[in-house]
Amino acid sequence: MGLNYKQQLEVVQGLSIPPDTTIRMDCPFCHNKNTLSVDTTSNNIGWYCFHTACSAKGKHQGEKDMNYVNATFKQKEESPDTEFIVPDSFKILDSNDKAKKYIHKNNCWEAWSWGRADIKYDVKQDRVVFMIRHKQKAHEFVGAVGRALSSATYPKWYMYGNKDVPFICGLHEHNEAVIVEDCASACAVSNILTGVAILGTSLKQSHKQYLKQYDKIYVGLDRDATKKSYDIANELKSYGLQNVHVKPLTDDLKYFSTEEIKEMFNG
Ligand SMILES: [Zn+2]
Repeated sequence: MGLNYKQQLEVVQGLSIPPDTTIRMDCPFCHNKNTLSVDTTSNNIGWYCFHTACSAKGKHQGEKDMNYVNATFKQKEESPDTEFIVPDSFKILDSNDKAKKYIHKNNCWEAWSWGRADIKYDVKQDRVVFMIRHKQKAHEFVGAVGRALSSATYPKWYMYGNKDVPFICGLHEHNEAVIVEDCASACAVSNILTGVAILGTSLKQSHKQYLKQYDKIYVGLDRDATKKSYDIANELKSYGLQNVHVKPLTDDLKYFSTEEIKEMFNG
């Protein structure tokens, strides 16, 4: 894995985990599912990966008081309307072959070419970048999510700008939505139903609020995340959404074509 303590701390801080939280999540170092435990209780930030091949672990003592912890680890309360200034390093997708290959291989090409998703290439971080659109102003962005194109880049998924607005891909006429693992899967399903990406974290308030508008909600995380799928379905039900179903999958949704997705959900 090869990252020293300071680099690891930087990555863990970049996950924007609020204080007084104990959380299990996908490991940004070894990319295994749900193997990283992060603990921000007692004025500390501690992390540990349970995967045997991964050496990610460390602890950072909060120097001062909760105000310090809040200032350091708590993400800023950002309004979903705050415009994200697109960095100069974001180039058109066509400028990079690896980026184009990624969106082909992960069934995002159709969503991109039909304009359901804005996808760019970040030349500075070597990432395919999925832009998060403003709710009302279609040509403004509030954030972006970047997928590393090389295994040496951490974390695998990086959030630019507002971290509270989910990446969503779909059409206005959809009555059904599916919670998926990542942006590529959200794009892959988007001709048939709306994909909402959770990016290895737990469900956020903003996800739940957004999902209220749909008649039917599926939870379609990949096959390794079955328990997490049921946890999320239960959480949505206790939030008051009734028509929630776990969709058993044989593989990540980004590996299926639109035709296959159509069969899976409407067949
Ligand atoms: Zn790990």
